[in-house]
Amino acid sequence: RKEQLQLLASVDAVTKDNVRMRLAGNISSIKDLEIALKYGAEGVGLFRTEFLYMDRLSFPSEEEQFEIYRQIVEKTGEQSVVIRTLDIGGDKQLEYFSMQDEDNPVLGFRAIRISLDNQEIFKTQLMAILRASAYGNVKILYPMISSLEEVRKANEVLQEAKQELTAKGIPYSDNIPVGAMIEVPAAVAIADLLAQEVDFFSIGTNDLVQYVLAVDRMNEKIAHMYHPYHPAVLRMLRQTVMAAKEAGIPISVCGELASDEKALPIWIYLGVSDLSMSSQSLLRVKHRILNIYASESRELAAHCYRLSTSSEVEAELVRYLGTET
Ligand code: PEP
Ligand code: MG
Repeated sequence: RKEQLQLLASVDAVTKDNVRMRLAGNISSIKDLEIALKYGAEGVGLFRTEFLYMDRLSFPSEEEQFEIYRQIVEKTGEQSVVIRTLDIGGDKQLEYFSMQDEDNPVLGFRAIRISLDNQEIFKTQLMAILRASAYGNVKILYPMISSLEEVRKANEVLQEAKQELTAKGIPYSDNIPVGAMIEVPAAVAIADLLAQEVDFFSIGTNDLVQYVLAVDRMNEKIAHMYHPYHPAVLRMLRQTVMAAKEAGIPISVCGELASDEKALPIWIYLGVSDLSMSSQSLLRVKHRILNIYASESRELAAHCYRLSTSSEVEAELVRYLGTET
């Protein structure tokens, strides 16, 4: 079965009625990228850069980061690489960067908030990413955006980084697309406004589900309440996708829900064709896509959107998978 799945690596992800999906890889290292490419990933939909910063004694230099970004971009070839800026805090800590203990770390000092508060560290990362953009198809993604001001401030630092590189005569791609992670309910509520400010959206369902339902994604005691199929989540997904479509910007999904086969009808119904997931999921999800009809999926998802509870929605999605393939 594993060998059979491997044969799908070079096959396009299309439904039985010819709807084309694009499956990209979530990676944290060059090693991850190699595995993702082996399993047929169409580019990198999420490069979690925090792993460059972990397990060491100080912040990585611009040069060190550039070297890794460049290798990843070159290995990926024509396809795009979405590089997410540093997303520490919450459950991810750096030994050499002291952060105060917080009562609610997940609602605290993390991700873009840390970058905007430490602009030299942020600018160093952006310079390294910009330099790598001269070697391939790079996109920048800001994590945990909750306001327009954050995007604007981050873009100001990006502008400074570009000016510094220009002054030094170092090449970079000037029209590098900049996107926002949609993983905080506030970002969903202002998705129409954010869509005017960025070039693309990437939905982070892991955090979005946690914040929408106020259910800590790490707390086992309430794990049974972590419902990606809660109607509140489904509505947030729809609102985000509609804002992106209205503004004509691309949208993709990079949280765990992207690799949950049960969710495929929802993405197809909403018109989301770009999914990014861990390498281990790529072939399994592709196999499922090859065996479903988009027309049926749309009908089923439309029905799910009329249901009132997570368990009803999930039961419908499970039933559909059970009768398929
Ligand atoms: C997410 O929140 O869905 C996401 C992709 O980011 P991370 O899991 O790294 O927080
Ligand atoms: Mg997240």
